[in-house]
Amino acid sequence: MTSFSIKILGTNAALPEESTITSAQVITVHEQMYVIDCGEGMQSKLKLYKIRRNRINAILISHLHGDHLFGLPGLLTSYVHFQRKTPLTIIGPAGIREFCEVILRLSHAFINFEILIIELTHGDEKIVVYEDLHVEVSAFPLNHRIPTYGYIITEKLPSWNVRADKIVSLQLTVDQIKAVKRGEDIVTAEGLTVRNEEVVYHKWLPRRYAYCSDTVYDERLPSYISGVDVLYHEATYLSGMEEQAMDRMHSTVVQAADIARLSGVGKLVVGHFSVRYVDKTEFLIEGREVFENTILAEEGLEIIINEKKND
Ligand SMILES: [Zn+2]
Ligand SMILES: [Zn+2]
Repeated sequence: MTSFSIKILGTNAALPEESTITSAQVITVHEQMYVIDCGEGMQSKLKLYKIRRNRINAILISHLHGDHLFGLPGLLTSYVHFQRKTPLTIIGPAGIREFCEVILRLSHAFINFEILIIELTHGDEKIVVYEDLHVEVSAFPLNHRIPTYGYIITEKLPSWNVRADKIVSLQLTVDQIKAVKRGEDIVTAEGLTVRNEEVVYHKWLPRRYAYCSDTVYDERLPSYISGVDVLYHEATYLSGMEEQAMDRMHSTVVQAADIARLSGVGKLVVGHFSVRYVDKTEFLIEGREVFENTILAEEGLEIIINEKKND
């Protein structure tokens, strides 16, 4: 079994409270870690949930509002105490580079590992912004008061399997099977060329997680996130607050659920709740009326995406 999980570290909009901080999540894929948004108090939450910061490969920032970003200065500058050696990638909208550089310079932070910063400036399209052996990350625009991007983390499948029926019918040798697993085409004893994709398959389907915060109801979203296993979508307000949501460029829970329904996702997780709501039960009720498989983000919640057989 390989891992794919989402750990919620913060769910509030705008302000942290005793019960939770603002937006922050850690995604674990094949034991590798990726942070999405970095609300103030991030370091305490990493400690509380025993998340080892040296295992974070990349930090994805949706936008530069403080409730998604102000945990980053502490997280970055404290690496001095953790003997990190491996490079760290930070991705976010234009301005993220200046933000990081100013923090590191003015605080005289001593960083002895490489920080790679990728600034996003693209328009309507969804593009791949990060890749390693375990995941591919794409970014697409959201519609908020300042430039904001959503992210999709897609699992990379470790290895190809060779179809048993083809091994028999083509009488593949051990060497040919090895070649096929490396991605090569093969030539049979009769001189027939067999293309690689005819012989291999993945035992599993790649798992996908999409993150959309902050944004108004945006009709473009289903084209970016269609069919993902889990969607996190902001739901700052309950019904009746549509005007306020539009003014502040946020969504209601019904709008979030509508996006989930139109996108055909497996599960919807809503969060980024306005601090005006003490009891969140109504978010669940309203969300489930539109999209049944809705759950509430809660600090400490871990959502596991199980492996999906490719049959
Ligand atoms: Zn926010
Ligand atoms: Zn915002």
